[in-house]
Amino acid sequence: MFDINKILRTNIKNLTPYSSARDEFQGEASVFLDANENAFGSPLVQAYNRYPDPMQYQVKMRLSQIKGVPARNIFLGNGSDEAIDILFRSFCNPGVDNVIIVPPTYGMYEVSANINDVQIKRVLLTQDYQLNLEGIAEAIDENTKLIFICSPNNPTGNSINRDDIETLLANFSGIVVVDEAYINYSRQKTFIQELTEYANLVVLQTLSKAWGLAGLRVGMAFASEEIIEVMNKVKPPYNINEASQTLALQALDNIDQVNVWIKETLQQRDKLVLSLKHMDFVQDIYPSDANFILVKTTNAKSIYEYLVQHGIIVRDRSKVELCEGCLRITIGTPQENEELINTLQQFK
Ligand SMILES: *Cc1c(COP(=O)(O)O)cnc(C)c1O
Repeated sequence: MFDINKILRTNIKNLTPYSSARDEFQGEASVFLDANENAFGSPLVQAYNRYPDPMQYQVKMRLSQIKGVPARNIFLGNGSDEAIDILFRSFCNPGVDNVIIVPPTYGMYEVSANINDVQIKRVLLTQDYQLNLEGIAEAIDENTKLIFICSPNNPTGNSINRDDIETLLANFSGIVVVDEAYINYSRQKTFIQELTEYANLVVLQTLSKAWGLAGLRVGMAFASEEIIEVMNKVKPPYNINEASQTLALQALDNIDQVNVWIKETLQQRDKLVLSLKHMDFVQDIYPSDANFILVKTTNAKSIYEYLVQHGIIVRDRSKVELCEGCLRITIGTPQENEELINTLQQFK
């Protein structure tokens, strides 16, 4: 049912991608005079005078081992935000096509749609922050190219029912993007093992959250070989810089440290929930599968401002539909969480 040629933009189908010096010669050589680099070096301790590997082969090989997905099914972006943008540019004709988002959800889908002049159809989540499958089915038309599902969802924190996502994957002839930025914290299984099952699945993950590398800007998309090929064609040739590739590769060997932090974050999350529960301005704390919690309060704006005055910044989501009165609080270190609790206990 899914046919990539039916949803690919014609200009992208016909695109001859930029061919870099590193694409045209990949063998062994000792003298590289093909890329107009400065052959003398860099004014740094480390040498960065050579262009990085456009296909990030080593990072992908390491990710392939960790994730159990072949390297040819992995795309790397300058953050997963770049992968989102490339999906729009590959599949959505500006001014013609549309995408479906399911608010309240991650804000970049909408911004990226607006930048690319792609119409957005909003189908609100239900009261318990799950998919409204009927509403989505009604919203789909012949120009609907992408559906974005964030699970665990930002800012609500919950995972989306797996069966519902599978229903979409099985019935939608466009691409279902499952954004798993917070999957390392989740009790739910990742969708990356389902790539062979669904040709229209794109899973997004990132090194920015649990992996602690937000500053490096490395995001991943996992999809069929044919979708990955399109994304590689559209991406800027050297989209992951040399420093990010080298450091990501080093970091990927420290998986044990990351797992310790994940465990500790989850313990801290439970602890924070227990302390918040007893505060009289807290009306509800939504179940979280992520490293943050969504907290419904009686007076979000003044609590937010009070915390700012005490040097503590949380995210005010109280103006977001279905999140009225809510603050989104990221789980910090034990000391930071304690400071938050102590400060909130003195809020009047
Ligand atoms: C933080 C976040 C991202 C951003 O990832 P980058 O790889 O840093 O661009 C993507 N999706 C969701 C849902 C996020 O919360």
